[in-house]
Amino acid sequence: MNRGISRRFFQSAPDKSNRSLEAASGTDADRRLFRQQPILCVCSMDRVMISVRGLGMRLESGGRPVDVLTEVSLEVPARQFVAVAGPSGSGKSTLLGLIAGLDQPTTGRIVVNGVELTGLGEDALARFRSDTIGYVFQSFHLIPTLTALENVAVPLELAADPDALERAQALLREVGLEERAHHYPVQLSGGEQQRVAVARAVARRPTLLLADEPTGNLDSATGKQIIDLLVALNRNLGSTLVLVTHDPALAALADRVITLRDGRIVSDETSNGGAA
Ligand code: ADP
Ligand code: MG
Repeated sequence: MNRGISRRFFQSAPDKSNRSLEAASGTDADRRLFRQQPILCVCSMDRVMISVRGLGMRLESGGRPVDVLTEVSLEVPARQFVAVAGPSGSGKSTLLGLIAGLDQPTTGRIVVNGVELTGLGEDALARFRSDTIGYVFQSFHLIPTLTALENVAVPLELAADPDALERAQALLREVGLEERAHHYPVQLSGGEQQRVAVARAVARRPTLLLADEPTGNLDSATGKQIIDLLVALNRNLGSTLVLVTHDPALAALADRVITLRDGRIVSDETSNGGAA
């Protein structure tokens, strides 16, 4: 089931530990996030960020082929906040992984930010992910042997940013964790770890932010803080946000809710202006 997504993303083994969860230190980090920086996005809501056509994903399970996704087609305009809902096993994570270029579909076509992913080689896909995508996982996947600061600096250092540590420090300040910069993941609460993971995901100002049940391991108050952070990024940075959740209260915050069942889209509803 684990197709090594985080390893391919960060080129490092993920932290599998799920620690006991405390409430994260309450801050208004979501409001402060990037407020001092200009909005650089020149995209309009009309530009298509994600175009998926006739997507199918067939995998082997117990020696039998299983259609995990069937004929999935959707378009997401730039800057939209989309929630992907549906029961466990309905294909949500598979769809997100395909949009991130972590897997290749069996059939169909995926274009993200003008780049056709289907058919790209591993190196080009890695470059695409690094330049375009920020990804937040349910179980944080911080690197346990690195401090909070070093975890946030990883994508910046991989991109040869000479100011990686200074920029990582500023990002930690923005998510309200300046005081925790030198703590290791095991010394942080679940909510704090996820804040570090969000800071890491947005370090390179991704055009597309993907989050796979980012609150699934958090209590509801802490989870709401994480969603507020992601929504603030969606609004202030102009990122497109695709959030997988099976919490209807979180899905209701989105501009649009796409529901999957048995690998097919069964509903697609926008909250401000009819069906998408
Ligand atoms: P969700 O995120 O909605 O819970 P997933 O996308 O993880 O669903 O999985 C959808 C279906 O695909 C499930 O039935 C799951 O068992 C199956 N599946 C996922 N990954 C694999 C795999 N690598 N091999 C075989 N089946 C898989
Ligand atoms: Mg999933």
